[in-house]
Amino acid sequence: MIEVLTVEGWNGERQWRRVGEVDHVTRDGRSVKLAQWESACTICGGPFHVTTPAAACSVERTKSFTVATCPAHRLTQSERAKIRYSPKQLRADVFESIKRAKLASEATQ
Ligand SMILES: [Zn+2]
Repeated sequence: MIEVLTVEGWNGERQWRRVGEVDHVTRDGRSVKLAQWESACTICGGPFHVTTPAAACSVERTKSFTVATCPAHRLTQSERAKIRYSPKQLRADVFESIKRAKLASEATQ
């Protein structure tokens, strides 16, 4: 089963592709299946994954689908706020400068 979901973000559309299922044990000891989804990081373009309840197919109600970056490039609270509180037409520039800073700090490590 392959399903593709499209998420409408501030910087355009992104796709989530359902790539499989993983086993998960809940806090109360039940074993359940989680759906695994893959998307491309908006910073490095590399693939990353999130898991959701297997039945999740609604983009609106699943918070995991709002994640737009791989774990290495996750935006901090302040970076996210910076983008959110910028005027719409400046958001892409603000994001670009955050992206550049993240990639630059990586290069020096
Ligand atoms: Zn990345």
